[in-house]
Amino acid sequence: MRQEIHAIYSLLLISLTACVSEPNADTLLINGQFAQVNDSNITYQQGSVAIVDGKISAFYPQGSGLPVAKERHDLDGSIVYPGFVDAHAHYLGFGMALTSINLLETTSWESCLQRVADYIKAHPDQDIYRGRGWDQNDWVNTAFPDNEALNALSDKAIVLNRIDGHALIANQAALTHLKLADGEMTIEGGEILHHNGQLTGVLIDNAMDLLQLPAMSRSDKIDALLAADKACIASGLTGLHDAGLPTQDILLIDSLQREGLLHLPLQCMVSESPAAMDYWLERGKLFTERMTVRNFKFYSDGALGSRGALLRESYTDRHDHHGSQIRSVSYLQQAANRLASNGWQMSTHAIGDSANHMMLNIYEQALTGLDSNLRWRIEHAQVVSPADRHRFGGKLGIIPSIQPTHATSDMAWAGERLGKDRIHHAYAYKQLKDAAGGHLPIGTDCPVERINPLHSLYAAIHRRAIDSTDSKGFQMDNALTLPQALNGMTHEAAYAGFDEKTVGQIAVGHWANFTIFEVKLHTYKPAELPHVSPIATWIHGTMYKNTHHDTAQETL
Ligand SMILES: [Zn+2]
Repeated sequence: MRQEIHAIYSLLLISLTACVSEPNADTLLINGQFAQVNDSNITYQQGSVAIVDGKISAFYPQGSGLPVAKERHDLDGSIVYPGFVDAHAHYLGFGMALTSINLLETTSWESCLQRVADYIKAHPDQDIYRGRGWDQNDWVNTAFPDNEALNALSDKAIVLNRIDGHALIANQAALTHLKLADGEMTIEGGEILHHNGQLTGVLIDNAMDLLQLPAMSRSDKIDALLAADKACIASGLTGLHDAGLPTQDILLIDSLQREGLLHLPLQCMVSESPAAMDYWLERGKLFTERMTVRNFKFYSDGALGSRGALLRESYTDRHDHHGSQIRSVSYLQQAANRLASNGWQMSTHAIGDSANHMMLNIYEQALTGLDSNLRWRIEHAQVVSPADRHRFGGKLGIIPSIQPTHATSDMAWAGERLGKDRIHHAYAYKQLKDAAGGHLPIGTDCPVERINPLHSLYAAIHRRAIDSTDSKGFQMDNALTLPQALNGMTHEAAYAGFDEKTVGQIAVGHWANFTIFEVKLHTYKPAELPHVSPIATWIHGTMYKNTHHDTAQETL
């Protein structure tokens, strides 16, 4: 790491001498405090940065002569961090959440129904009503609801996704689109909830695919993408890894980026299917200035909240239930071999200890003997048996891609699902980081969690619910330090996307991507962090001022 820092400063110095003979820049950012982040500390250098063609061309320590530039921005002492990158989120899903019925932080099923009713009243002409964000674990009655009261709200289809995207409740009108044989009530890798022979409307994991509603229109998708782009940038993000999109949506985003309508640089993982693999392996990887496609996203299990996470021993609060295995071992194995031999990256959702064990086996068998490090990722790596932990990192370089806010959202009930011993192997971020040779990219999984990167920072170091008065925190031996967490949201996120040479640090040759704050982040008490917002975000040398900065905006 020391060597790395040395290399960065050398680069800055080389540029410093070079700048004398290259006086022109597109943009100059003057009077800033520029942060260098690594796992052990954050240092700040006062000075100015020159930008040419969207990239940092030189750094000038305070007091040195500056070149002429077309534009000049006085930062007035503001603190410039390397631009934040969300290593796992759902860009289109976030946009859809922003433009549909918001059921986040509802306190009961009745309060969800009220929000749906209000929305329908305000939008009477919609063909289908979609909502997202309910979580029965937050209600007094933590049982799954049924659709009886939902049926009374509209004759049109209503579909409400659970917060984790791994379960939904549909009204009767929506269930007419359910592709299910008469009397059939079971499905591999999912659950169709029923009571006295009647569907309750709740579908879990693979059962959700049986509900074949008309697809969202192109113009609704564009509205959602525009909303997501704006909200991501306002939150300080300068990049995002989308954890799974169908090919047609990736191509739509690419076309909107080329038209200059979407600005956030993305790494889009392709939602896997045999057809999607045929298409992309034939076409090849896609690299533009704002879009990278080099990775396929798989699911191996469901989520812990809806008891879909695949566990080795049964659920502590539901005996004889181990969760959902979404794909067979042979399917995953074949796909892994195909991607490995074609040099593609593979990312797999694995939450339960059994799913993690299965995927580590599959990854090891596909990667052993390969020359190149393909940086295959396990998304979430939430419950990992201690014996499996050391299988991250090492020669194969398998990366745990984690979301600290999942720990703080789940901590109230995860112990009930896992029991008092197994809970210690869950959300073990510090141990995973050590095992993986320091590689621990951090994301939000938005819209499962909020997009705000400072929520991740707070959750990673403080491991408490926002505004909580809990004095202890959740399994604090697995807390990260502020530099470690910040490094996970910048350099490590970039590394997980093979972007570390141009993204994730403030260095000459890197994109001019910055997340700018009024004061240094460590001057805040941890509890204040979730309420801090950046004053501006810079992407590829263009400034996006955060106009909501003073109103402490609460986006999704
Ligand atoms: Zn996700």
